[in-house]
Formats: sequence, C-alpha cells, structure tokens
Amino acid sequence: MLSEFARDQDRVHPRHTILGMSDVHLVRLHGGLVDTTKSANTNSELNYRVSILPNEHELQIELVIQRSAEVAELCLELGSWVPGDYSFMPFARDLWGLNATDCSSGVSLKIVRTGWQSFVITGGSGSVCVSYRAYAYSLELAETCGIVDSDYAILMGTRYLRPTGWHGYCTVTYELPPTWSFHHPSGAEHVADSTWRYPDYLTLLDTPVVMGHLNIVSRMVRGTKIYVVCVDRTLGYEDGIERFADALARVAGQYNLMFGKFPFEDYTFVLSFSPNFDWGLEHLSSALCGLGTDLFIDSGKFAFAVRVCAHELFHAWNVRRLKPTPLKQIDLTNGSYTEGLWVSEGFTRYYEFVTCVRAGLYTVEQFVSAVVNYLTHLRAVPAFKRIDVLDSSRATFLNHNKYAGRCNNSIDYYDKGMLIAFDIDAALRLDTVSDSLDRAFADFYRRYVDSVKGFTTDDVICFLEDRLPGLGALVAREVKGTYQIGLEQSLRRLGFEIGYRKRNYVGLLFNNAVSSRIYNVLDDSPAGRSGIAPDDQMTRIDGYPFSGQGLSWVTSRAQRITLEVLRGQRILTFILEPEIRIEIDSVTWRGSEAQAERLRSWLGQSSFRPSYGLVMPLDFYENFHGVEVLR
Ligand SMILES: [Zn+2]
Repeated sequence: MLSEFARDQDRVHPRHTILGMSDVHLVRLHGGLVDTTKSANTNSELNYRVSILPNEHELQIELVIQRSAEVAELCLELGSWVPGDYSFMPFARDLWGLNATDCSSGVSLKIVRTGWQSFVITGGSGSVCVSYRAYAYSLELAETCGIVDSDYAILMGTRYLRPTGWHGYCTVTYELPPTWSFHHPSGAEHVADSTWRYPDYLTLLDTPVVMGHLNIVSRMVRGTKIYVVCVDRTLGYEDGIERFADALARVAGQYNLMFGKFPFEDYTFVLSFSPNFDWGLEHLSSALCGLGTDLFIDSGKFAFAVRVCAHELFHAWNVRRLKPTPLKQIDLTNGSYTEGLWVSEGFTRYYEFVTCVRAGLYTVEQFVSAVVNYLTHLRAVPAFKRIDVLDSSRATFLNHNKYAGRCNNSIDYYDKGMLIAFDIDAALRLDTVSDSLDRAFADFYRRYVDSVKGFTTDDVICFLEDRLPGLGALVAREVKGTYQIGLEQSLRRLGFEIGYRKRNYVGLLFNNAVSSRIYNVLDDSPAGRSGIAPDDQMTRIDGYPFSGQGLSWVTSRAQRITLEVLRGQRILTFILEPEIRIEIDSVTWRGSEAQAERLRSWLGQSSFRPSYGLVMPLDFYENFHGVEVLR
C-alpha cells in the first residue's frame, strides 16, 4: 500500500538549502494578490517562532520570509477554512500589532490589512521579518485554530500568516512556559529541541501540537503507538482513563486489521472533557475530540465518546488520505467543494458504529435500531424526497450547521451515506462467497489513495460494479436518486421482518427534545401549510398553557389543534389538523441459524443468538448532529 505517509517520509528529509523567492511574481488582480508561479517556491522555507503567553491567552508570532530580490508587494494571508470543518471562519480578526521590517537593514515596511483574511507589505529589498500578536482564546474557533489556556495550549498553523500561494516547507520553533511539557504528533521532522519542520503549510495546519500540564496515556497497537493526550480531567478520570485507552486500542486494532497497516508513524487523540468544547475534527495523524464531562461515570456516554474517537480515527484513512476529487487540491481561500462526502463522512459514520459494535461497546440490537432510526429520521424530512446525497455534499459549506428551513432543502450526507454503506456491505455479504465492505473499501483505498485527482462518484460505482455485478447500479440509484434507500430489503434478506404503523403528526421539528420553541417546520405538512414558523414560541395549546407532553398528546390524535405562539412581539394563533404518516414500527427476527451466523461474523459478536420471533427494540438512536424530534 502506497499511502501519503510513505510520501511524507520522503518529504521529512528536506534539502537544507533555503532558496529565495526571487522567482515568485505577485501581481494585483481584481483587487487581490495572486501568486502567478505557485510551484516556484516549492523548495523555499517559512520560519516561524511562536511564543505562548498563557495568562494573556495570546501568541507572539515572528515570521521570516526569505526573499532574494525586491518585490513591490508581498501579500500574507490566512486560510478561510480548515479541511474537515467546512465553514468560513474569521481567523484574521484575532491578529493585531503587525510589524514588518526588511531583515537585513531593519527598515520598517508598510503593512496593512486588505480583504477578508490578508495583509499586504510594500517595499523592502530582501527577506522580510514580520511579527504580530494573536489572541488565541476563542472558544468557537478552538476546534479549528487551537486554544491558549492558562494551563495548556493546542496549536496548529491556522493563525500563522503565510505568503499567498505558499507551497514550501514551514519550520516552527515553539517557546513554551518553563514548566510545560510538549507533545507532537507524527508527520513532521524534529529539527532541534523545540523546532519542527513541516513538509508544507497544509501539514502544519493538519498537525495540532499540544503543550502544558498534560495527562498522557498510550497503548501500543500492532507496533504503533496510540497516544491519548488529555488537556484537562473530569469526574471519574482516574478510574476510567485506562479503560478508555483500552477501548480506543481495540478500535485501532480493528482498523489495522481491515486496512492491513496504519498509515501513520504514531497517532494522537487530543481530548478535552470541557463542556465548552463540542470538538470532533480529524487530522493527518491525530484528532481533536471534545468528549463532555460524564463519560467516565455513564456507560452510554463512554460508548458515545469512544465512537466519536472511532469516527475521527477512521478519517486517518478516509478523507485525510483517501480523498474525493477535488480535495486533493485544497483551496484554503475560496473553499473546496466535493460531491464525495457521502463516502468520506457516510462510510466513516458506518464504520464508527460497526467498529464499536465489534469492540463490544454496542449490541447488535442497538446497531439495528440505529440504522432503522437513521432511515426513519431521514424519511421524516421533505428534503429526503428532493435532494440527493451528491448535492448535499457539494453544499457542505452551506448546510453543515442547523438553520431554519434545513429540513426542506438539505439532507445529512453523513446519515444517508451510512445507510448506503450498510446496503453495500449487506449485498457483498449476501451475494458473494466471502466479500464484504471491509475488504472492498480497503482495496478501494489502496487503489485510489495515491490518485492525483482523488476519486469520483463514478469511480466508486464502477469499482463496486466490478466487485459484484449489479451493485454499482444499486449504489448509483441510492447516490444519484432521492428517497432511494434499500435498508428494509437488506434487513429482510438478512433475516428480519419489518412491521409498519400509522402515526399522526403535524410537521413540527424539535432539536433533541420537544420544547416550546419550534426548531423547524416541514413545508409539506399540516404545520407547513398553517403559517407557523421556525423559532415561534408556543404559549398555548387549545387554550391551555404549553407543555411538551401536551403537544405530543394532541398531535397523536386526529383532532384539530389550536396553537398560540409568540413571534417576536406578536401573539399569533394557528389551526393544525394532524395527518397520518407511515413509519417502521418493528423489526422481528425471522432468520435461520445461518443468517444469525452471518450477522455474528459481520458484527463480531459471538453472543448474538436471537430466538425466532425476537422483537428488536428500536429505542436506540444517537446522532452527533443532534436528534430531530417530529411531532
Ligand atoms: Zn467526520
């Protein structure tokens, strides 16, 4: 297997000559600065010196840009987003006190802010020294920028200015408070005590460095070190962290078995238990995960936390290395838009679940309940009939966060991608002698990991069609069509009987639990036709004070409902008449011993021995993106 890591190994032994930037031409075009010779500076080097100021929660950053000739203008910029987090963020707002000097003469150069995330330096005849401060305690930017706490810091290159179009090496010298320890994930070259060289800016951006008063445990998994670096602690940590590390090691071992080897030299989970951090961001050989406060005292939250980490670890293969087109050529300024996130995220969601079942954290029954509920929740929203998973993926910069109207014009490509992965796995296991998605996806990884352009949807379809005639066509229908998911058929073929029920509803959606504030309104439902709107606050039901239980009761009946709401300063009244929808009500085991054995080997649970007629409970459903509750 030729992974990107193999190539990184070549790149971490760079030539030591620092070439100048005399051949870099920066021209002003449509008000912005554009590097017309992007490949010209590939062998140059950027040198950063980063001092951590924990009490101020700031960084003092000094940057030397090697230049051997006069350039009229030099544009420095930050990216607008970071890979894995598809949203444009105001990274440059936290930068201040910028100074630029000609390194040889010490003469000050003019530096001014220009555009959204950039600065321009004018004058100078050689190398340029730049210094500035960056405020680094923004909780909402911590996942993408890191954070400087008084006890620890997590740093990546997000706030480090670079010349526009920079493609060369980056060297960073970290200056820490004297009592702090330091942890650096693999993927860069350790040059000296506190100095590291990164093969390029994207790798710097993709390598969170952790320092401070850290709690570190580790496991050796098939010859590779897996570090668990905790920046804080929570109740039960002392009793639970070793057990947690064991669970992560089991997950890592499963992935190693699937792909044959690890694609990194070592791997680091950077964990926080602060309720302020809802993190889950994958990197090349590490991940940032915010796991909440209660995982060591609540077995359900423990399993959930392992699953968060399992998700991010799977990304070390799927999306950090195996990439859909055009994510092999990242545009940090304008965004990179791909239709392939149904694989990158959907398959990752599938494997996060499957692997945690195999690791004994969830039961087979919970897994079946999860896939059924993912389908039920997708079917509840009108967008499932309107939007295919490719469009949903292309729109990720627009739809990743919750917003009013989302249920009508966007689906979650994680959720549908997971169900597509389930159907593929079921087909391979049912219709071949010994194939599975485990084998197929590992082979797909090996075929496309080094592809220059990344893989396309048609590459996936053709690959699967070659694997099993007819499978490519099935996947094409599910991927390119709307509403088409074969989960029920897959479950029946696996040995389950599906039962359905009629259910009254009015079309109001709530985020995680029914409350007085409406989260969303299905536009093809009684509520959607009534005039009621997202964010309306319900005050009365049929003249009585609002309660969540009361709303559930009235919407379950077939009688007209009067809802009084507060919208801004207005009190409005709407009449709704519940309608009937049909949804999956039961999944019952009607399978043979051979079918039970297939599920045992698929999900790695030897104890799954269902009696004929066993009704599978459908009460388990968890979604990192929140559970949308329909009434
Ligand atoms: Zn993900």
